[in-house]
Amino acid sequence: MLKGSFYHSAETRVDFPCVGDFVLLHYNESGDSLIDTVLPRRSKFSRADYSGHAASYAKTIREQVVATNFDYVFIISSLNWDFNVPRIMRYLTQARQSGGQPVVILTKSDLVPDYNLPLAEVTQSIPDVPVYAISSHTGQGLNELAPYLMPGKTVVFLGMSGVGKSSLLNALIKQDVMKVQAIREVDSRGRHTTTHRQLFMLPSGAMVIDTPGMRELGLFDANEGIRANFSDVEEWFPRCRFADCRHQAEPGCAVHAALADGSLPRERWEHYVAQQHENKYIQNKTGYLIEKRAKGKTMGIWSKQTKKNGGSKK
Ligand code: GDP
Ligand code: ZN
Repeated sequence: MLKGSFYHSAETRVDFPCVGDFVLLHYNESGDSLIDTVLPRRSKFSRADYSGHAASYAKTIREQVVATNFDYVFIISSLNWDFNVPRIMRYLTQARQSGGQPVVILTKSDLVPDYNLPLAEVTQSIPDVPVYAISSHTGQGLNELAPYLMPGKTVVFLGMSGVGKSSLLNALIKQDVMKVQAIREVDSRGRHTTTHRQLFMLPSGAMVIDTPGMRELGLFDANEGIRANFSDVEEWFPRCRFADCRHQAEPGCAVHAALADGSLPRERWEHYVAQQHENKYIQNKTGYLIEKRAKGKTMGIWSKQTKKNGGSKK
């Protein structure tokens, strides 16, 4: 329970306790203990809070703290087709601002014939940050993470949806804890949310913070990354005869023409389609967030998709 003065004196939600915080308690043996003070944070991740609730208090976007007091930030990126060094660099900036120590984890090493090339590429781009290639499926490389997973240390995972964060956490815990803990429920506004435990203790004695807020940080960056990565593909779209062209078999499709004469490599197109497919999967997983964001801004593929479907929400 929070001491009443939090509600009166806390300037913003920033002062509210969140996952990872250490607090001073008035311990109550027979009921709720009272949180008196949130101790100073040595590291933190925040996101912009766009919720209407906050906006009604002040017409500004507020900072919402989503995780605190972690030692390491695992920047997680997969080694298969969405491998992308500039994205890792952007996460690195976020990680450094947070006060945690960044560690780059390249996942799904079992899916690439030789992970040494991408590994070297990352190491060259960021020589001062440790980089590891791992597979949660085969267990390859997991032992190398042991120095970060010492008792009392806390880790947060940062990375796009689908890169293998849950799988890594599961592999480290060696049981399917995410699936067991996840409860689908409908919150008071009738939107679907997934609630689950937010702090996991590993057998080694280290802790992993995994909050929905952290996931949104990953997603936020992913959007920008996707648009930047596929501008060479999307630049064909305005040249299609029909504004709502789906680039399948429509007459006058510029994408088809570009594929036919080789100006758009087929491989790029296939990557784009696969990415779009994955986005729909992410959208289903975190639908409420996209819906909220799509209202304010054009957010690449997602909002295009929404407009094509006549603005319907899934
Ligand atoms: P998250 O959204 O970042 O938590 O990603 P998930 O852990 O849910 O993984 C997304 C997909 O990638 C799932 O289908 C996983 O089975 C797959 N995946 C995760 N880690 C690995 C890995 O090490 N190897 C392979 N082959 N697939 C993986
Ligand atoms: Zn087209």
